[in-house]
Amino acid sequence: MQKLRQSPYLLYSNGNGEIFEDLSLYAVGRTGWDAIPVPVEDWIELPEGGSLYELPGRRGIGIDIQTGEMRLCEKGWAVAAFIPPAHTGLYIAAYETLPEAPVLPLFCYTAVSWYNDRFYVPAVRIEQDIRQECSGYDNDLIHSGVAHLVKAYPHNRLVKHLADNCCNTYHCPAARNYFMGRWECPVPSSPACNANCVGCISFQPEEESIPSTQDRLTFKPTAEEIVEFTVPHLETAPYPLISFGQGCEGEPLLMWETIRKSIIEIRKHTGKGSININTNGSKPAAVQALCEAGLNSIRVSTNSARKHIYEAYYRPNNYSFEDIVESLKVVRSYNGWASVNYFVFPGMTDSVEEYEALRKLIADTGLTMIQWRNFNIDPDWYMGKIGVHETGECIGIKQLMELIHEEFPHVKYGYFNPPMERIQGNYEKDFAHW
Ligand code: SF4
Repeated sequence: MQKLRQSPYLLYSNGNGEIFEDLSLYAVGRTGWDAIPVPVEDWIELPEGGSLYELPGRRGIGIDIQTGEMRLCEKGWAVAAFIPPAHTGLYIAAYETLPEAPVLPLFCYTAVSWYNDRFYVPAVRIEQDIRQECSGYDNDLIHSGVAHLVKAYPHNRLVKHLADNCCNTYHCPAARNYFMGRWECPVPSSPACNANCVGCISFQPEEESIPSTQDRLTFKPTAEEIVEFTVPHLETAPYPLISFGQGCEGEPLLMWETIRKSIIEIRKHTGKGSININTNGSKPAAVQALCEAGLNSIRVSTNSARKHIYEAYYRPNNYSFEDIVESLKVVRSYNGWASVNYFVFPGMTDSVEEYEALRKLIADTGLTMIQWRNFNIDPDWYMGKIGVHETGECIGIKQLMELIHEEFPHVKYGYFNPPMERIQGNYEKDFAHW
């Protein structure tokens, strides 16, 4: 991995998917609504599995190598990077949006640059776990796994959904791991949701111009269907865990009775692995019932530790920010593992106000882990939708991570739900070689 000694150059696209470097401009980054220089040491080579986007109707912003002034690149459209899982972006791509520009689809738009025949991004590897490394997927094994498991469970609608939709259509990394017989197995269960997230990846209202990245589940699986394929997975997979709450469904807590029944039945057959739920955390009483049944860990998704920012984005039906805090507390009261799926947005996540709110959330809940996830959303659209025109003072994502770690060294950092071996064992153990 080559470290830079100077600022790299801006990239632009010719609008036909071809990308070029502009050697007259140094690349910069964006935080909130502002374009700012990126410290040279924050750039890392674009990790394997990353991809590049041209941003139609947007002009890139850079620093003129002669004058040192910030100016637009008029040679083409701006370019951004989608950085692969396990890495957290420190700055958004910096550009000026033209009036007729379309809203961008639900991906993350990290700053990207060029130097010495390599692409660079301002990011950190936050997770050593290799479960979603693209080089680790074997298509032949996946195909034979799909054929074998669909044949093994001919009447199981959920296994068919995971095969046809998740694995073969959306190429979901979790579903592909399931069909390779390893690690985390996804268990979607809910066709409905009690929130209306601006950037929902499984449902976008007609009036919005962007598509959801996957379609929502259309049926309610039974506990029998869930137990049938999850028990063998927990029994046979290395570092096994199953996770309710996936991108292709609504809110799993709306199906808590079925999930509770499933957990009780699963634990009658095996004590192996971890049973996790990815959720919006809206129903603490249901979470308590699941803990009573044997739930091991929870991951509550949030764009912010601040009530007004959270509710402006989630637009909750009949629940409030206080409920998600309570759900985290409930799991900790059962000595379960409690994570936040923290949507990182430079300029919002690292504002001083958010930092103070995050400190309070950790202290109030006894939080175990922060999963620093890149926020997959058009930055202008997001800020406009939640009504943020001024972000206030910011400290930088990297410094935020360091300050929180200093004050709460027991809080683990990562990108994925840990298996029981990590929860109960040496969390820092080198998981780069499973
Ligand atoms: S909680 Fe999940 S499923 Fe519900 S609206 Fe938000 S993103 Fe969509």
